[in-house]
Amino acid sequence: MRIAIIGGTFDPIHNGHLAAAQSVADTFQADEVHFVPAFTPPHKRSRGMTSSFHRFAMVALATTPFGKFRTSTLEVDALQKRYTVETLEQMTQSYPGADLLFIVGTDMYQEIESWKDFRRLFDLAHLVIVNRPGYPFREDVAPFRVLKPGEPVQLPAGKSVFYLPFVEQPISSTDIREARKRGEELTPWLPPQVWSYIEKNKLYA
Ligand code: ATP
Ligand code: MG
Repeated sequence: MRIAIIGGTFDPIHNGHLAAAQSVADTFQADEVHFVPAFTPPHKRSRGMTSSFHRFAMVALATTPFGKFRTSTLEVDALQKRYTVETLEQMTQSYPGADLLFIVGTDMYQEIESWKDFRRLFDLAHLVIVNRPGYPFREDVAPFRVLKPGEPVQLPAGKSVFYLPFVEQPISSTDIREARKRGEELTPWLPPQVWSYIEKNKLYA
């Protein structure tokens, strides 16, 4: 069993997340990709972050058409902040013997040293870094291997770090929220069912 995991706030989920997940699933022949929306504490909600329930619903809507994609309740069920290291520990326990691949964009990877127990992350899962335009890949954090599109990958016995420079979608949730405030068309960036959900529930207006 091979499971790729992508965590985030998904406020909202967009085609960049889906493209990254699809590309990792193809490259590594993953059996499943788990999307793990983070819980939003009430104080963040009052400062404008969307409720976990809406963000979760949008992830569920976006992932359902993809056979391998799953929407994980792991972090939202906690009803408090969960660190990635805790989520990966829990995944390791829930799927003993599975190969776990943790997907992260170059933007997040730049600051990975500030994550809780960041060294432990490299023991719990293979790290798969996907390119985000404008955020150079940091080469000094850990030894890594750069992959090429279509190149077959054998997972080594130990955990590794892989960089996939070919997944490049210049889309962010921040841009989508700002475009929505300006009343712009969002359909090129999101699956239609997510756009419909945003409109019906008057999110980001
Ligand atoms: P925001 O602008 O609110 O931070 P975001 O678009 O960065 O939203 P997140 O939910 O923060 O989305 O990201 C979740 C994960 O997906 C992170 O690892 C992030 O690096 C990655 N990611 C987000 N957008 C892209 C993209 N366009 N291409 C590749 N990876 C992405
Ligand atoms: Mg982000």
